[in-house]
Amino acid sequence: MNNIRVRFAPSPTGALHIGGVRTALYNYLLAKKYNGTFILRIEDTDQTRYIEGAEDYIMQSLKWCNILPVEGPGMGGAYGPYRQSERKDLYKKYAIELVTKGRAYYAFDTPEELDAMRLREKEKGNHSPLYNGAIKKSMTNSITLSDQEVKERLESGAPYTIRLNIPSDETVIVNDIIRGEVSFQTNDLDDKIVLKGDGMPTYHLANIVDDHLMKITHVIRGEEWLPSTAHHVLMYRFFGWEDTMPTFAHLPLILKPNGKGKLSKRDGDKLGMPVFPLAWKGKTPEDSFDGFKEHGFDPQAVLNFLAFLGWNPGTEQEIFSLDELVEAFSLDGIGKSGARFDFDKAKWFNEQYISSKNNKTLAVLVKPLLEEKGYNATDDFIETFCGMMKERVTFYKDFADKGYYFFEPVKEYDAKTVKKKWKDEHKNNFNKMIEIILNTDPFDPTTMENKVKEFITENELKFGDLFPLLRVAIAGIVKGPPVFDMIALLGKEEVKQRLEKATEFFENTTQQKV
Ligand code: GLU
Repeated sequence: MNNIRVRFAPSPTGALHIGGVRTALYNYLLAKKYNGTFILRIEDTDQTRYIEGAEDYIMQSLKWCNILPVEGPGMGGAYGPYRQSERKDLYKKYAIELVTKGRAYYAFDTPEELDAMRLREKEKGNHSPLYNGAIKKSMTNSITLSDQEVKERLESGAPYTIRLNIPSDETVIVNDIIRGEVSFQTNDLDDKIVLKGDGMPTYHLANIVDDHLMKITHVIRGEEWLPSTAHHVLMYRFFGWEDTMPTFAHLPLILKPNGKGKLSKRDGDKLGMPVFPLAWKGKTPEDSFDGFKEHGFDPQAVLNFLAFLGWNPGTEQEIFSLDELVEAFSLDGIGKSGARFDFDKAKWFNEQYISSKNNKTLAVLVKPLLEEKGYNATDDFIETFCGMMKERVTFYKDFADKGYYFFEPVKEYDAKTVKKKWKDEHKNNFNKMIEIILNTDPFDPTTMENKVKEFITENELKFGDLFPLLRVAIAGIVKGPPVFDMIALLGKEEVKQRLEKATEFFENTTQQKV
């Protein structure tokens, strides 16, 4: 495929939902695969829904995921501007072109007239009347008024909208790469407004005109836009642009983790999982939340996870770098049915990405998170620490949360283990083991482990009687990286202090309980 041009066209109405990132990703992948162009277009014609900071949030999200457009606001490109509000003067002439062709008309109905029509229809049992067919013939518009009346109204500055003139009794076929042929009856389509009273285009007009002018070849977007596509296909026909009409691909819905219904922001709050890429600070606490980033996700893991929400490569392979995704991606691999947002799978991807990173790279990523908690250490220390922890964490923040004892003194000892294991018959052996450890030279895990093992075997002792205590003395808990690795990293002085403090504590607590 040549000269592929795709666009991600979000409206800046708030934080970008993770489904939006998936849409951006699929567009990006198709463009990259065929050496095409990935464009960002900001659809901000509805000023009533405009939210300050949303455009910046969109850009930051794409940056974090490393799926950057090459044309877009602030990036240049031959088809700009890429913000629809900066193109607003351009759309009106297209609306008027449709009127001239008889494919659209001026509508002068007042809000009261529209209400009266709805009431009339309701009384007839028609609860959601569409402005089309017979109804449009009973309203105040350039179909029912004489040319002279229309002229006068326009000249007097009477408020008007421009509506599409949808023909009756026709079938519109939308050819969608994912859904196949989807047909719509025109009697079910309303005469959508394309130009509003304030002279601004609606989404439908601006979207079609821009896709045409920007030479978009594929429209890849969420399934919720499929019904509008019938109008869009008609508009391509009305303008005479059918030959260059883009190929449509409507992506399946992203479903709640239980598979029932569309994933919403509230599911995120309810289930304690992110449904946005980055943190968002809205006007109210309810409208402020953390994203995948703050949760401790690796952006590549997020992309890998998102790629699989609706697409599959047709093989068993699950881990894909961005380049591999580009290689493997095809629109044919996208399914029709909704994709369940399986947070456990997202976590699994994250674990895979974290554990496969080399320790040096991890150290760079983890260091600032440690510093946030006031944990300072040398780069070498952090690197070794990361190596020990990387198989044991799910999120980046877990390094500090789960490995806190590498950076601060043990505050709490696992009481159950102390009670069970700190027995008179073991104390002596425990102290001897400590002595061996502290006298090991070089102070490295293998030497230490060999010496301790020798001591245990020679004296016919049990590992299970001594090791859990050693772990608790060093870290407070029984879980964690191999104990001699921890000891070696903490260093002789620190370990000595920890062991002294711990044995004193063990002794005091067990005595108190007797
Ligand atoms: N502005 C629309 C949105 O917010 C774009 C839909 C499309 O891609 O055509 O999703």
